[in-house]
Amino acid sequence: MYRTHTCGELRIEHAGTQVALSGWVQRSRQFGGMTFIDLRDRYGITQLVFNMETDPDLCKQANDLGREYVIQVKGSVRERSNKNPNLPTGDIEIETTELNVLNKSDVPPFTIEAETDGGDDLRMRYRYLDLRRPSVQQNIILRHRLAQEARKFLCDNNFLEIETPFLIKSTPEGARDFVVPSRMNAGQFYALPQSPQTFKQLLMVSGYDRYFQIVRCFRDEDLRADRQPEFTQIDCEMSFVDQDDVLNMFENLLKHLFKFVMGKDLGDVERMSYADAMRLYGIDKPDTRFGMTFTELNDLAQNKGFKIFDAAELVVGICAEGCAGYSRKQLNALTDWVKRPQIGAKGLVYVKYNEDGSFKSSVDKFYNQEDLKAWADKMGAKPGDLLLVLSGATEKVRKQLGQLRLHMGSELGLRKADEFKALWVLNFPLLEWDEDSERWFACHHPFTRPQKGFEQIENWGDIKADAYDLVLNGNEIAGGSIRIHERDLQEKVFDLLGMSKEESESKFGFLMGAFEYGAPPHGGIAFGFDRLCAIFGGAESIRDFIAFPKNNSGRDTMIDAPSPIDDEQYTELHIQPGAELVE
Ligand code: ASP
Repeated sequence: MYRTHTCGELRIEHAGTQVALSGWVQRSRQFGGMTFIDLRDRYGITQLVFNMETDPDLCKQANDLGREYVIQVKGSVRERSNKNPNLPTGDIEIETTELNVLNKSDVPPFTIEAETDGGDDLRMRYRYLDLRRPSVQQNIILRHRLAQEARKFLCDNNFLEIETPFLIKSTPEGARDFVVPSRMNAGQFYALPQSPQTFKQLLMVSGYDRYFQIVRCFRDEDLRADRQPEFTQIDCEMSFVDQDDVLNMFENLLKHLFKFVMGKDLGDVERMSYADAMRLYGIDKPDTRFGMTFTELNDLAQNKGFKIFDAAELVVGICAEGCAGYSRKQLNALTDWVKRPQIGAKGLVYVKYNEDGSFKSSVDKFYNQEDLKAWADKMGAKPGDLLLVLSGATEKVRKQLGQLRLHMGSELGLRKADEFKALWVLNFPLLEWDEDSERWFACHHPFTRPQKGFEQIENWGDIKADAYDLVLNGNEIAGGSIRIHERDLQEKVFDLLGMSKEESESKFGFLMGAFEYGAPPHGGIAFGFDRLCAIFGGAESIRDFIAFPKNNSGRDTMIDAPSPIDDEQYTELHIQPGAELVE
């Protein structure tokens, strides 16, 4: 028997018990004729003691152990004289009587402890060692628990876990597909799914009523920091539901995860229209842990001689509570911040609402004290506050102020890591215009249901969809929609998207065909599971919550992928390096 207990299990009650433990040598210290070894496994750390006086051979053997050796020990549990209150096993130690080296280890390239000296690249190359670090293990364990609790909740609510294929048909929409050449069908390719969207809808047509899957999805997008070419969704679909049914079900899922994984009550999940989110927060995934909502000032700020405001489509500001004391230097820094190319504002107008009730602004030339008082009143400001105002084209300026709001929220410590606020953003537009390709795209995806009466709407940008996003602390954690379940409506939407009849038939004929055989009304959602894990873990990067992630260039440097294939494989797959297909 390798072990009777794990390294995280023994307590003072076990004193006197004979035990066997197995694990990795985390650290060893020698003093006063004694050797102390921290033995580590997934469950914790237990201290082993070897005594030079009573058992010199064994102690010498222990002194020869290197970091990360895998060993088995036997001995008896005893109370420690020098207790470690930071360790669950800190009251005891093992008086070792037998030591077996199960395997040696080279000196690891970085220290395998919570704080490591290994840089990103090194840790990625030796991911299997990085994964030994207790902090990383906690992340992977958290992921497991979230997955199990999600399964439990969905299962208890009658959802069936059903797998859908990974080798499917390429229908790029939104992102690029990863494609896989077919050896048996020369010149033909599978694609890896960007999501199981069409299959889960087909399962509704097949009468499965409630489906879920914790599923890998693949998108060949240009890599941005913290985006993975393969990622995991909790993918769900339900039949005979309207939007409220879906929202209620999945806010309950989120509440369940909070309660059973984090031991927290999430509280109410607010609901807000996309239009309000943009008008009040300048972003479709507002961080509602703090207020600082936008106030539009066109009526008060225009026609007073300030040309920049007069020429602007929108003059809009936020009130930073208690910031009237900002120094010139701080205000300059804020101005520089909004002028950075990533934000792109031309300038920043500030108004200090001084404690004595007077105003001092960067536009005193154009506005008198009463004017500024009117701004402050409209913004709900009080003495001591600072108003920050931007102007320009509506969409742009909202985005810029949205960024500034988040920046101020962080500066003022209003985005607290241990506070959680979720909200639904509803009534998204169905379509968005893409300047580059000069065509309409589906905001969510082409299977999203347009709201009633859309045919009468002249400006296609104003058509709304039954689509929703679930936002947590400013992160989109889930998105979904009520779907189209009728062939003619689906054809109409493909038509709006500029798809010819032939194209839509060849890409999605199977789905529209299925709609002709009694497709029930249905809708669903998918959670970004990696992001959800990161948020629950209080971390920024999703990479830390994926056992074997890709780096920022989409590479796995441990196994060295992607990598070239043999000439023979090329031939078998009917393709040639850098050339056209060979028949
Ligand atoms: N398939 C969608 C996505 O991946 C989610 C959904 O509509 O259920 O974004």
